[in-house]
Amino acid sequence: FFFDPFQHLFPVHHKYLFISDIYIPLYLFVISLKADTHYTKLPSPCYHTIRKQHRIKNRRRLSMRDVLEQAVALGKTHTHEGAVATYIPELGKVDGSQLGVSVFCRNGKRISVGDTKVRFSIQSISKIITLAVALEICGFDQVFKKVGMEPTGDPFNSLMKLENTDSSPYNPMINAGAIVVASCLASEISFDTMLDTIRALCMDPDINLDKKVYHSEMSHISRNRAIAYLLESKGYIEKNKDVENSLHFYVKMCSLSVTAESLAGLGLILANDGIHPDTGKRLLSSQAVKIVKTLMFTCGMYDGSGEFAVRVGIPSKSGVGGGILSVVDGEMGIGIFGPALDKKGNSVAGECVLEYMSHELHLHMFDPQRHTL
Ligand code: GLN
Repeated sequence: FFFDPFQHLFPVHHKYLFISDIYIPLYLFVISLKADTHYTKLPSPCYHTIRKQHRIKNRRRLSMRDVLEQAVALGKTHTHEGAVATYIPELGKVDGSQLGVSVFCRNGKRISVGDTKVRFSIQSISKIITLAVALEICGFDQVFKKVGMEPTGDPFNSLMKLENTDSSPYNPMINAGAIVVASCLASEISFDTMLDTIRALCMDPDINLDKKVYHSEMSHISRNRAIAYLLESKGYIEKNKDVENSLHFYVKMCSLSVTAESLAGLGLILANDGIHPDTGKRLLSSQAVKIVKTLMFTCGMYDGSGEFAVRVGIPSKSGVGGGILSVVDGEMGIGIFGPALDKKGNSVAGECVLEYMSHELHLHMFDPQRHTL
């Protein structure tokens, strides 16, 4: 490798410069050619297990239901790797072995496998609803005057960047950003009107505030309260807006009880540019939908968003209640419930299910075989 056929052309002291300039790029190029022939898929612990345990030899064309059943079977083998959230005590009572996935397609097909009718706490997934409605009511400029559009790489409840930089909260998918957005909205819309909007967006009239979860979170709210008052001190929550009111609004939004099917419903509305697929009625503006999906892709899985985008490639938003809402643009909404979480607060089994679906159904945004409607 270090043999240098041109050494007589260069003085010896230039040799190392020559090696780094020419040989290393050449070596990387040769490696990449080799890699191309050996790996057509990204190596992933989850995907290798699937191949060993669940892949059907002599592949026939799998139906969507087959794929979902296999995905859930695989996901179930991973639930023990995570744990339910306990920092909101009410969430700690949930059975971590549950798993369900529901898909609503634009052509009207609905497929659900596993625990898809179990009600659970929406938690951070509500951040996309708060943002969408705030964009409609307060407008782009008003919202993005107070919150940014950049991923943080920090945990969702971190105060680090808020304290250590002069910047506004980095994005509306972390707690600081969502509390700011809630402060814009809380004085403009009542929670009851918000609830009606959410029921319509999720195509689920049974969505309600889970009072037990709400009180449980409100009695363990120190960290979010610290964030809210820091926001006020830095002027991101205006003095005339009631900080406590904004905080209550934010926690109420997190305490809505949904199912995997409700999440799939909202996912489909977002996949369909904000239009209800059955009635043809526009529920959200195109611009709001575009912004929400973009921020889901870049920031929706907290500090795991980058790796998730590479492995799965579907705009998604997770919550510590164990839900994940995913949007396959132009095609379908996916809702997942798997309350055992990884260290970043994302559903362990849910990520596995999505990775499997993404590979098998070619759902990755940049998969060359992805259907375009
Ligand atoms: N209500 C939770 C909190 O504010 C939401 C966090 C989450 O789902 N990541 O901590």
